[in-house]
This record gives sequence, structure tokens and C-alpha cells, in this order.
Amino acid sequence: MPIDPTEPYDDNNIFAKILRGEIPSKKVYEDDWAFAFEDINPQAEIHTLVIPKGRYVSWDDFSAEASDAEIGGFVRAVGEVARIRGLVEPGYRLLANIGAHGGQEVPHLHVHIFGGQPLGPMIWNKG
Ligand code: 5GP
Repeated sequence: MPIDPTEPYDDNNIFAKILRGEIPSKKVYEDDWAFAFEDINPQAEIHTLVIPKGRYVSWDDFSAEASDAEIGGFVRAVGEVARIRGLVEPGYRLLANIGAHGGQEVPHLHVHIFGGQPLGPMIWNKG
């Protein structure tokens, strides 16, 4: 069920619980700004999620409300995770879903990193 990105942050969302260590995850990377872990239901050979440590529902409130340090730290972390996963030379794809049309299901901002194989056309099969 897609989430409403204008709702207030819910401290009981599944990624908040992963950040607090209340639910296990396959950690890939962590620093002051971000935490990265493997997606539980991978959609590509490599499918890693990167989330900010701050309480942000989506790219919308993160881009509007986060400090420059949080944004800079998070963007650098996404790049670092791709490097750790060996994705720079073969290439990879970033995706952030926002709200209903984006198909966002977890109300804590996350960037998907896909790679490890050719990823095909970008989006929207009109047929
Ligand atoms: P969204 O559709 O919100 O952009 O993506 C949510 C992603 O979170 C999905 O790819 C889904 O497989 C993943 N996910 C949902 N619950 C869990 C979980 O408990 N652990 C992990 N590692 N990934 C999860």
C-alpha cells in the first residue's frame, strides 16, 4: 500500500526499527549520516538500500527540511555504497520512490541502488 509522503514521520516504520537495531538487516555501510543494507526482496543481482539517519518520510521533506550537512552526508554515502559494491565501472541505477505514483511503501526516505547486471529500459512501458 503506497504511503502518503505528506504524513508526519512515523517512528514505528520498518526502516526506523532497522536503524535502531530492533529488526535485523544485512548491513553494507554506516556513517554519521546514512545506513545501507540489502533489500529483503531484491529486484536485481545487487539491490541495496541507503537511508538517512534523520527522520525523513521521503525525498520531498528531506530535500526541503534536511540540513546541508545531512544532504551532503547522505549523497556521499550513496556514492560510497555503490563503490563498496563494485558498481562504478559496470554502472548502476539509483531510484527513490515518492508517494502513490512513485509506489513508495516504506515511509522513511530510501534510495535503491540496483546493479550487477544490465538493467533494461528505465521506466513506463506504455503497452
Ligand atoms: P519502496 O517501494 O518503498 O520504494 O521500497 C521499499 C523496499 O523495502 C522494497 O524494495 C522492499 O523489498 C524493502 N523492504 C521492505 N521491508 C523490508 C525489511 O524489513 N528489510 C529489508 N531489508 N528490506 C525491506
